[in-house]
Amino acid sequence: MTNPLFVEVVGEEELTERVAQLGAEIRQDYEGREPVLVGVLNGSVPFMADLFRHLDPTTESEFLSLTRFGEEGRVSIALDTLEPIEGRDVLIVEDIVDTGLTLASLRRILDTRNPSSVAVVTLLDKTNRRIVEVDVEYRGFEVGDEFLVGYGLDWDGRYRNLRSLYAVLDMGAFREDPGSLARELFGTGLR
Ligand code: 5GP
Repeated sequence: MTNPLFVEVVGEEELTERVAQLGAEIRQDYEGREPVLVGVLNGSVPFMADLFRHLDPTTESEFLSLTRFGEEGRVSIALDTLEPIEGRDVLIVEDIVDTGLTLASLRRILDTRNPSSVAVVTLLDKTNRRIVEVDVEYRGFEVGDEFLVGYGLDWDGRYRNLRSLYAVLDMGAFREDPGSLARELFGTGLR
């Protein structure tokens, strides 16, 4: 038998449950306030959509997109929020925090805009890969070092729409044949 190339690490039901728990926690913590969720495109989209629906209807949603440059993980904002965040209770919504460099840069940028508060909710956290310390107020799951795809996480733009999260066990083979996961799941798909 050949070794498996992928493994499902968090299934659909578990994701649904955990997102509901995070939503309940945030709803309680922000009672009486009107936070604005700021989703980091593109990876946060499924998580944002699910989390958002657990929150108070006065909660607002915004998105932004980042461009990363340089070795130190510095970022600039490629696509900004539509409304200003000054004076607002901001909740950054991330798919995954890895080294922490992206999030640390983003927090620094948003802090200069004088929000009332900034907190972070990430679905996934690779805590043991951290290079810079960065505050993460809410996390869905701590995960290991494996490369993950699904539920917002991509490989070259693909696989974001999978309902579960999968770990790639053989990155070499996956790079050579990125359609292999689609074939395994659907028996069809990508080249
Ligand atoms: P950091 O600056 O924390 O190292 O990087 C975070 C970014 O790295 C995430 O927003 C995501 O784009 C990417 N990333 C980190 N780990 C993974 C992973 O396991 N799978 C995917 N698809 N992207 C990842």
